[in-house]
Amino acid sequence: MNKLRNLSLKQLKEIKPIIIRNLAWFNRQPVKQSFGIKLKRRLKNLLIITFVGTGIYYGYRNYRDYKWFKDMNDLDNSSGIKQRIVILGTGWGAVPFLKHIDSHKYEVVCVSPRNYFLMTPLLPSVSVGTVETRTVIEAIRSLVGPRIKYIEAHCVDVDPKMKIITCSSEDSSPVSRGDDIKGIFVQSKREGGASSRIIKDSARTRPQFDMKYDILIVAVGAENNTFNIPGVQEHSHFLKEILDARRIRSAISDAFESAMIPSQTEEERKRLLHFIVVGGGPTGVEFAAEVS
Ligand SMILES: Cc1cc2nc3c(=O)[nH]c(=O)nc-3n(C[C@H](O)[C@H](O)[C@H](O)COP(=O)(O)OP(=O)(O)OC[C@H]3O[C@@H](n4cnc5c(N)ncnc54)[C@H](O)[C@@H]3O)c2cc1C
Repeated sequence: MNKLRNLSLKQLKEIKPIIIRNLAWFNRQPVKQSFGIKLKRRLKNLLIITFVGTGIYYGYRNYRDYKWFKDMNDLDNSSGIKQRIVILGTGWGAVPFLKHIDSHKYEVVCVSPRNYFLMTPLLPSVSVGTVETRTVIEAIRSLVGPRIKYIEAHCVDVDPKMKIITCSSEDSSPVSRGDDIKGIFVQSKREGGASSRIIKDSARTRPQFDMKYDILIVAVGAENNTFNIPGVQEHSHFLKEILDARRIRSAISDAFESAMIPSQTEEERKRLLHFIVVGGGPTGVEFAAEVS
C-alpha cells in the first residue's frame, strides 16, 4: 500500500510542471522555463515553420508553372474569361501597343519570328561597326514583361470568319538574334579559323499550330521595295534587319582585306573599294555618311 502511495507521489511530481505550465498559459502568465527547454522549443517551431514554408513555396511554384503551361497550350482560349488579343510582330508598331495594353483586362499573345525589338535608326551604324549589334536590340520578353505571352513563329494564314490564325516556323529560315554568326559565314565564307560549323540544329522543332483570337492586330511591317531597279534584287544587300547589317559589315571588311592582298591589281582594288548605295532616302543617306 505504502509502495503504491510512493509511486503515485512520484507520478504527481512528474506531471506537476505540466499542470503549472498549462495553468499559467490559461491565466496568461509568463511560463518559467529553463533556457535549454526554451531553445529546444524555439528550434522545433523554427523547423516546423521552415518545412511548412518550403512546402507552400514549392507548391505555389509548381502551380504557377502548371498554369503557365496550361495557358500556353490553351490555343482555343476555352477557359478564356478575358478576351484574347493576338498581335503579329515585334517591331515599331507592335511594341508600343504591347507596352500599353492592359493585360489584366485582356489575354495578350504576341506572335513574331523575331524575339527582340530592333532599333532600326541605328542599323546604318551597325553595318559599319560604329555601334555594336547588342546595343540596338532588346529582348521582347524583357521589354513587355511576363504577363504577355510571346511565341516565336510566323503567321502564315488568317481565317477571319473562324477567327483563327495558323502559325509556323518549321520551313522558314531562323531570324538572326544578333549573334547569329552562322548566317554571316554562309554569306561571306569568312570562317576565319572558327570552330563553329553549319549544322541542322535539333533545337528547332516547331510544329505548325492554330490559335483562336478575339481581336487580331497585324503589325508585320513591310517588305523591301526594289522599285524594279534591274540587278538590285540579285546583287545588293538590303538594310532592314540585324543580319542585313552584319552581312554588310562583313562584306565591307572582306572588301578591305581583299584590297590589301599584295598581288591584287589596281583595277580590282578600285572595284573592291567602290561602294554604291541604291536609294537616297534617310537610310541610304545615313549609310553613305557612315561608310564614307
Ligand atoms: C535602316 C532603317 C532606318 C530607319 N530609320 C528610321 C528613323 O530614323 N525614323 C523613323 O521614323 N523610321 C525609321 N525607319 C523606318 C521604321 O523602322 C519603320 O517605319 C518601322 O520599323 C515600321 O514598323 P512596323 O512595326 O510596321 O514594322 P517592323 O518594325 O519592320 O516590324 C515588323 C515585325 O513583324 C514581324 N513579322 C514579319 N512577318 C511576320 C509574320 N508573318 N508573322 C508574325 N510576325 C511577322 C517581324 O519579325 C517584325 O518583328 C528606318 C528603317 C530602317 C530599315
